Order: sequence, then structure tokens, then C-alpha cells
Amino acid sequence: MTETSIFTRILEGEIPSEIIAETENVFAIRDIAPKAPVHLLVIPKTAAYRDVVELAAGDPALLAEVVGLAHTVAAEHADGEFRLIFNTGAGAGQTVFHVHAHVLAGDLDEKSLN
Ligand code: 5GP
Repeated sequence: MTETSIFTRILEGEIPSEIIAETENVFAIRDIAPKAPVHLLVIPKTAAYRDVVELAAGDPALLAEVVGLAHTVAAEHADGEFRLIFNTGAGAGQTVFHVHAHVLAGDLDEKSLN
């Protein structure tokens, strides 16, 4: 059996992290190690998809729900303009294999993608 993901443990309240927004199938938290003035994570409640490629193939409506909540939280926590990053694969910096979108906003460094 695979280990329960850190995001599932946050969703279930096992690890403290404020859920700042949610929809039926998606929730958002602040990144514990922010790389931008506003750095949020938008995460499907299901851990069934490891990365955005699996999510897009398996449930495109859920991917659209992730993008929609990203827009909502970017409007609530910044001016609604944001950078959306899905690290995909360990070589690209992915460390948690429960798909999640990084929402970066605020005064972004042009050169930094994460
Ligand atoms: P990845 O590297 O997989 O694209 O992104 C995982 C992100 O999860 C990292 O930016 C990391 O800072 C964040 N993270 C890891 N553990 C926790 C945690 O316990 N709480 C919160 N809020 N964020 C976490």
C-alpha cells in the first residue's frame, strides 16, 4: 500500500494547515515554504492522480476545478493575476506525488519560475 500523502493528511486534519478555500472536490492551503509574496497550493481532494498529466487524462473536469479555485484564491489573496505551476516529475522538482498546483502571485520575480 502506498503511503498517505501529506496533502490528504492535511485535508483530514492530521497535519495542521488552514484550508483557505475549497470547492466540492478541491481545496487550497498556503505553501509552508513560500517562494513568492503569495504562494498557495490548490489540490484535488482525491489522491488518485500523481501529477497533472494523469489528472488531465483521467478527469479533465477536476483539472478545470483546480484552475477555477486557483483563480478564486489569486483574486482573494492578490489582484487576480497569477502564475500556475505544476511540477511534474522528481527531475522537475516535484516532491509530493498527489497532484497540486502552485499559485504564485504578488510581486513576482520575472526570472524565477518557482
Ligand atoms: P512540489 O515540490 O511537489 O511541487 O510541491 C510540494 C510543496 O508542498 C512544496 O512547495 C512544499 O513547500 C509544500 N509542503 C510540503 N509539506 C507541507 C506542509 O506540511 N504544509 C504545507 N502547507 N505545505 C507543504
